[in-house]
Amino acid sequence: MDSYNTFQVAQKQVLEAVEILNLNQATRDLLIWPQREFKFTLPVRMDDGSVRVFHAWRIQYNTARGPAKGGIRFYPDERSDTIRALACWMTCKTALLDLPLGGGKGGIACNPREMSERELERLSRAYIRATAPYLGIDKDVPAPDMYTNPQIMAWMLDEFETITQRHHPGMITDKPLQIGGTEGRRDATARGGVISVREACNTFGIQPDTFAIQGFGNAGQRAALLHREMLGGGKLVGVCDSRGGIYNPDGFNVKELVTYKLTHGTVKDFPGSKAIDRDAVLELDVDVLYPAAMENAITQENAARIKARIICELANGPTTPEADQIMNANGLHVIPDILASAGGVTVSYFEMVQDSYKYFWEEHEVHESLDKKLTKAYHTMIEAMREKKVHPRMAATVVAMARVAEACELRGWV
Ligand code: GLU
Repeated sequence: MDSYNTFQVAQKQVLEAVEILNLNQATRDLLIWPQREFKFTLPVRMDDGSVRVFHAWRIQYNTARGPAKGGIRFYPDERSDTIRALACWMTCKTALLDLPLGGGKGGIACNPREMSERELERLSRAYIRATAPYLGIDKDVPAPDMYTNPQIMAWMLDEFETITQRHHPGMITDKPLQIGGTEGRRDATARGGVISVREACNTFGIQPDTFAIQGFGNAGQRAALLHREMLGGGKLVGVCDSRGGIYNPDGFNVKELVTYKLTHGTVKDFPGSKAIDRDAVLELDVDVLYPAAMENAITQENAARIKARIICELANGPTTPEADQIMNANGLHVIPDILASAGGVTVSYFEMVQDSYKYFWEEHEVHESLDKKLTKAYHTMIEAMREKKVHPRMAATVVAMARVAEACELRGWV
């Protein structure tokens, strides 16, 4: 991964948006860089008694519209430029969804699959001891991301509250329900994606009858279930995860497939499926494709072979700029990550609101509020697309950057 410099890609996108918006030089110089970056070394005692030193980051990209917001990844090949890019895209997401938040991201270079539960707990707590001065509901609010989950958020919350000796449930989101989490957070990213697909289908008169999913983690699994539930059916014909791909032209039984994945750790060899290449899943002739794995899955190598009419980017940064151009030229509708995957952070914001009020919503209230926000953002993007005559990703970036720039200006920063 990252033979591609993801941050250069993000900077280029911001620059293009800034030019379309005709913003001044100072705004441009401000928006193409993170506002604050923190880099830490975390010594952690391992189960065998040895100490290992982990490298960790927290980057606050822009806080003009509100506290930084974004997940923490546990990923072996973590590096600062990837986190910078992801923090930039979080800034775009929160602005596009019109949430009173900025953008940030964090990460630890580690392989959680090779660590015990206790080691993960010690690492999570060490991360909070290092970052605590810079976190808080009014400063910067983390959440899960790749290979992190609500249990890790619970340890992090506990460490923060131990340090500060007060309750601060809103300092982190996607916590377990029992300690201040919200209903509807676990499927929020997928739900947001499916809402955007529904709006795209209505706007362009497309029937979402067949679909494929690349990556079958939390977002992929829930998208499979929600696509059928919210769009009135649809056959899931292809799926892959890191171990392989499977195909069934008649459609998989999604519930059985999810159970199979949870028990076997992979979709490979699911009964009644034909084994296919992992990458072949991206190229299936379907109505909707959900890239739900990680960065740079669709590149100039395979973009011309993508046949789906709608590409719903549930992962962050799954498409390289060259691939984006190819798919746009081929008339495919790419719903960009900063919209398609923004359901998670939107419900995170609802969680912060509930934590502040100490009053919790019912699940249907979360779903309805998410639907309103996502639907509005989708149509704002389509309007900008038509007005500025640009493709969806640039339209979404332009809307977001205009809002961030306005906040910077109002504060007298530029
Ligand atoms: N990690 C998720 C994302 O990339 C959610 C972030 C959040 O809830 O703050 O959008």
